[in-house]
Amino acid sequence: MKSAIKLTRLSAAARLKLLEMIYRAGGGHTGGSLSSVDILVALYFHTLRYDPKDPDWPGRDRFILSKGHSVEGFYCVLAEAGYFPKEELSTYGAFNSRLYGHPTRKVPGVEVPTGALGHGLSVGVGMAIAGKRDHAAYRVFVLMGDGEQAEGSVWEAAMAASHYRLDNLVGIIDYNQLQISGKVDTVMRISPLVERWSAFGWTVHEADGNDPEGLGELFDRLPDSPDTPHLVIAHTTKGKGVSFMENNPAWHHRLPSVEEYELARRELEETLRREER
Ligand SMILES: [Mg+2]
Repeated sequence: MKSAIKLTRLSAAARLKLLEMIYRAGGGHTGGSLSSVDILVALYFHTLRYDPKDPDWPGRDRFILSKGHSVEGFYCVLAEAGYFPKEELSTYGAFNSRLYGHPTRKVPGVEVPTGALGHGLSVGVGMAIAGKRDHAAYRVFVLMGDGEQAEGSVWEAAMAASHYRLDNLVGIIDYNQLQISGKVDTVMRISPLVERWSAFGWTVHEADGNDPEGLGELFDRLPDSPDTPHLVIAHTTKGKGVSFMENNPAWHHRLPSVEEYELARRELEETLRREER
């Protein structure tokens, strides 16, 4: 099903806004937010069922941003979805703002405070078990980082999810192959990811993680295998959308200079203008 909303335009607008938020706040996680924002747009504007006026509606699909540091794109998407006014995004990182550098339950739409890596999938497993016991129709989505795969707790959760046959659980890996300190496979080799997750009893899919339309169509098809949890390996580019930030681990959380900010902003504005034509 083609989305009624143009997802690529929403992604372009979120990229521009999150860059501005980080620059204004004087800090943030640019590379990972630019990498993962298409996944969030696909989830919130194509896939998830939710009611922004009733964030705790029991029938809602659950989403956990396990890589909680990539929060700026998440805030942009939550505001666009109507959980809080878009004007509030400008308070990101400011004194007394509830928009912290990692998500908390103070922000409507946030299920779980995250940021300490390796915990989101375990919480998602608990929610998925609860859904099964309640015979509820909701699905649970958990977005993890690829560097996060080095956390042992991820694999404990993976084992439990297949043991309990959680076909209402979808894990997503933002697979940009970089983490704060360099190439993921150099820091701690996580490949081959397909074989490892398959061996833990998951049905594994691979997708272009910077194509929100394609991701939305894939999410629609899940679960496509009964009694197993599902993993989507989303192949992404860290720093996506800004030429000099792409595939450079320095932009994990480096703050742009004035010149770099202006250059990045011009590139993202041009992309947004193209999307709006
Ligand atoms: Mg990464």
